[in-house]
Amino acid sequence: MARESLETVEDLRTLFERQKAFFQKGATRDVSYRMEGLRRLQETLRRHEELLGKALEEDLGKSFTEAYLTELGIVYVEISHALQRLPRWARPRTVGTPLFLWGGKSSILPVPKGTVLIIAPWNYPVQLTLVPLVAALAAGNTAVVKPSELAPRTAAALKTILRKAFPEEWVAVVEGDAQTAQNLLDLPFDHFFFTGSQRVGRIVMEKAARHLAPVTLELGGKSPAIVHRDARLEVAARRIAWGKSMNAGQTCVAPDYLLVDEGVVEPLVEALKKEFRNLTPSLEEPGPRIINEAHFQRLKRHLEDPENGLFWGGEHDEERLRIQPALLRPRSFESPVMQEEIFGPLLPILTYREPEEARDAVLTYAPYPLALYVFSESPAVQKLFVEGVPFGGGAVNDTLVHLANPELPFGGIRHSGFGAYHGEAGFWLFSHVKSILEQSTSFDLPLRYRRDRRVLRWFRRFMR
Ligand code: NAD
Repeated sequence: MARESLETVEDLRTLFERQKAFFQKGATRDVSYRMEGLRRLQETLRRHEELLGKALEEDLGKSFTEAYLTELGIVYVEISHALQRLPRWARPRTVGTPLFLWGGKSSILPVPKGTVLIIAPWNYPVQLTLVPLVAALAAGNTAVVKPSELAPRTAAALKTILRKAFPEEWVAVVEGDAQTAQNLLDLPFDHFFFTGSQRVGRIVMEKAARHLAPVTLELGGKSPAIVHRDARLEVAARRIAWGKSMNAGQTCVAPDYLLVDEGVVEPLVEALKKEFRNLTPSLEEPGPRIINEAHFQRLKRHLEDPENGLFWGGEHDEERLRIQPALLRPRSFESPVMQEEIFGPLLPILTYREPEEARDAVLTYAPYPLALYVFSESPAVQKLFVEGVPFGGGAVNDTLVHLANPELPFGGIRHSGFGAYHGEAGFWLFSHVKSILEQSTSFDLPLRYRRDRRVLRWFRRFMR
């Protein structure tokens, strides 16, 4: 029941113009007005948790506890964090002025960019729509948000909730599919914020280029987890299984594959089996499902391809689109399952002899991951990966958790996207930094107007 475009091109343009006009009036420049908006969002969400929980259950099979931990809870943390700090983030900063500009006072003024567009995916449809929105509102923008048509009940619930919290001139939800997104991308927004696939990311960037507008791309990729021989294997297995089984592996920062020191692969595999069993409901019980038939079939092909070396798990129920966690031993990085982001509960395991070999494999075969996880007690090994591989963000001895800390900017690098948000980073992402030099008129140094050689020595003296 994916929702197709309902709004016409004309409707969307009118909505955009109304938001622009509202922005121009200047209400959102006032920090207390923005804070009031954030509070309203917080309260309205609290009142409608049940509606959202039900929608997430129906769209994705998420339990309310998982939905709170990975969606609503993260949004609340971001709102509270912004409410506490916004007056400080938004205040103008006075900065130094060099002597040769004597008499001037310099300041930096964060101002809202204007009217922004947020396009979200289906896998965490609440968090990935609302966390960027919190940042956009904190920075004083108006926003049009387009949730994914693949989580249609959640999109409808978000529309109901945001309509209660905001007038459409300030925040509007547009439900619809790729065509609706394309129609929105034809409008000259002041910032385009996109979370989704690399394929669509390219389209968004091209469209934004036509408007010469800034763009943030939050994309995916193959995020490795490295398990070194000195890792605490039991806790490593538990945290990897936890990160991989969340939302049936349909998480942008899920550990996509493992690189394991060959000396510990056997005990790690045994520990992983145990942890996956503990964490995963049976096929008969309610649990997270694969988003649609096409993705289900894609994952099933990986399970069935002998090149990928399935050796444990992977039971599935085609009718209910459920797949149980599966462990795979692909022949090499050339195997099919290693050619794309898995986005499902399949965990390929490759081994290495020396950590440098593992680092080089990541750099060669799956560069620029969105996340990287390294399990090791050795600072040297941790450093080898944390510093030696370009990736968006990650964790040492854990998975996923870095994205829950609003103090940590969240975003990718190159193929996994660019531009970071969450907390203060989100505020700056949606702000334009206006630099102002306020000059005194009570005197006017005549030197600056001269071009003759005699003043050169003064210029040399002060400008060096
Ligand atoms: P997607 O790119 O198919 O869709 C995302 C959004 O783009 C949807 O709202 C959709 O309507 C719109 N869209 C689809 N086709 C379009 C087109 N041709 N033109 C314009 N807009 C279009 O992504 P998805 O399947 O919803 O999400 C999965 C992907 O998102 C994975 O690659 C995952 O790694 C990535 N992801 C990244 C993050 C992150 O924070 N970096 C978070 C979640 C998901």
